[in-house]
Amino acid sequence: MQHSLIEKIDAILPQTQCGKCGFPGCRPYAVAIAEGRADINQCPPGDVEGIHKLAELLGVEPKPLNTAHGFPKPRMVAQIDEHLCIGCTFCIRSCPVDAIVGAAKQMHTVIATECTGCELCVDPCPMDCIHMIPINDKLSNEANKKAANVARSRYQFRLQRLARDKQTHRQSIKHKNNVQSESTVVTAELRKQTIVQTAIKRALAARKSHQQALSNEPHELN
Ligand code: SF4
Ligand code: SF4
Ligand code: SF4
Repeated sequence: MQHSLIEKIDAILPQTQCGKCGFPGCRPYAVAIAEGRADINQCPPGDVEGIHKLAELLGVEPKPLNTAHGFPKPRMVAQIDEHLCIGCTFCIRSCPVDAIVGAAKQMHTVIATECTGCELCVDPCPMDCIHMIPINDKLSNEANKKAANVARSRYQFRLQRLARDKQTHRQSIKHKNNVQSESTVVTAELRKQTIVQTAIKRALAARKSHQQALSNEPHELN
């Protein structure tokens, strides 16, 4: 029941994944609304229309947008000034829908058709070379819905990829620690063997010299 409510709320949200609502994406905000931890008026990209749809779904009174979370803006797309880009990858890491392509120390580019206009890549850019360009053409409701579905899939795919990367990283650290602790055990064992062998050699040498001392003593004549 709760799960299907979350799905219904998430279906209303614009999937910009901008975090302006105070949650790290549309779905976490949907979960928070369903659990009563967030109000219905915290999403600037969804604006009044979104608030009304949420109010209708939840059977509550609509309310004005809480502008502490920001103001609605026209649709925008990020554009990178490729001459200035130093390939630091900060923007790629901050894009919630993997809409930026590039590699370390290489020029980066925005895949305009995948960009939700969330602006999350702008601040991290140390070269100030990412600009948000307003898009004038208005999308039909159908096209809007399609774009939101694509953004939702890309957002979920990215979360799965990040979780996989984290898991791989954890496993590689664990493997490294295991190799290190194995080599520590081997080193300790070798040290122990060396100490024991040295002690045995010392004891044998002491016994030999004791025996020699005994054999050198003059025997008493009866
Ligand atoms: S579009 Fe932005 S503000 Fe609206 S729900 Fe999604 S992440 Fe939150
Ligand atoms: S390219 Fe920038 S503005 Fe576009 S979705 Fe990615 S982070 Fe957001
Ligand atoms: S953050 Fe700016 S400088 Fe760094 S890769 Fe992205 S666009 Fe280039």
